[in-house]
Amino acid sequence: MTDTPSEAMERLVGVARDPRAYIGRWRAGHPGGAVLAILPMNFPRELAHAAGALPVIVQDDQEPITEGRALLAEFYCGYTRNLADQVATGRFDVYDAVFSADHCIQLIGATEIARTLRPDTTVFLGMLNSSMNDSWAPAKVTETMAEIQAEIERFTGNPVGREELGRSIEAYNRDRRLIRQLLDTRSAGEAALSPVQLQDIIVSSMVMDPVEHHALLLEALAGLHGTERDDRVRVHLSGHLCHAPRRELLEVIEDSGAIVVDDDLYHGKRYLSTDVAEEGDPIAALAGWYARRNVTIPCPTRVQQDADWDTYLLDAVRHSGAEAVIHLVPKFCEPHMLYYPELRKALDAADIPQLQLETEHEGMPLESFRTRIEALVERTLRRRPVHV
Ligand code: SF4
Repeated sequence: MTDTPSEAMERLVGVARDPRAYIGRWRAGHPGGAVLAILPMNFPRELAHAAGALPVIVQDDQEPITEGRALLAEFYCGYTRNLADQVATGRFDVYDAVFSADHCIQLIGATEIARTLRPDTTVFLGMLNSSMNDSWAPAKVTETMAEIQAEIERFTGNPVGREELGRSIEAYNRDRRLIRQLLDTRSAGEAALSPVQLQDIIVSSMVMDPVEHHALLLEALAGLHGTERDDRVRVHLSGHLCHAPRRELLEVIEDSGAIVVDDDLYHGKRYLSTDVAEEGDPIAALAGWYARRNVTIPCPTRVQQDADWDTYLLDAVRHSGAEAVIHLVPKFCEPHMLYYPELRKALDAADIPQLQLETEHEGMPLESFRTRIEALVERTLRRRPVHV
């Protein structure tokens, strides 16, 4: 980025760091419009946008967890305990309803807290099936997409017309494509945007109207000057399926002699991996999007014989030229913990240096992480060819 961030970039950062302020501004400009709390990872936000609502992916808001501790057990991941805390302390009151389409048991637990503590709030779980290879799966996914559409129409009172939905699909695709380009140029050697800046861009896209976000991002990128990557150790960040890694952790990684060249984080390539087809029936297109997402970047919460996270990771590392992988595993994230041994085995077999960091909502041992990342960097540097 330029030395002085543009005003547009500062506005994107402002939305990412304070989504509630953006929601307030959106409400002022859309009297009577509904703001929906969307929970990760696969909800088709296009359907809500086409109904005139603002679908906001709820962020881990970095406040210390207080009441959330008593509502969900300690062995829930930090993100879900933070969600429960947001509900219990009124920080969730900016949303008119909760919509989810996933089935991680911990996310369902957090959703149930919202249902219990806010009995007057609409809480909708439109479960997209996780078994992807069965013959009945495509029809079932299409049926669930139609159920989500019906529920959104019922809640907002606005029918979702085919044309409106087509326009929303185009708007989200356009925004996704633009951000994906940034991640692709990063893999190709561009280093103008730091991991924190890229995260701010992605978080703001999860919060804002896609048309507005796309325009603001174009403005922010107009002041961007190309910067070549230096010779720090190139790393791939893997994990964090639902919430953003802490900014200070990303900074420690890059301060320790590593440079992030690729990732499969939710607040990264995973979120942007797949576009929705713009031709044909839009509901079938959303169903196809859901199915393809698990092929472009496999997710350990889905079951599919021909999609493997470890195979994907090895291919990604070869493609970006990453020299090492850092696994960011949120404490108690069961799907990730269950799959992690496979990732480790595959990378060991391919002789790729790796490091696992177990992250938490608060109280992360950053200085101990720094030492371990520096050790990974040292180990990886020793493998570089020596030119005499
Ligand atoms: S997938 Fe992992 S991070 Fe996401 S809600 Fe479930 S346990 Fe938490």
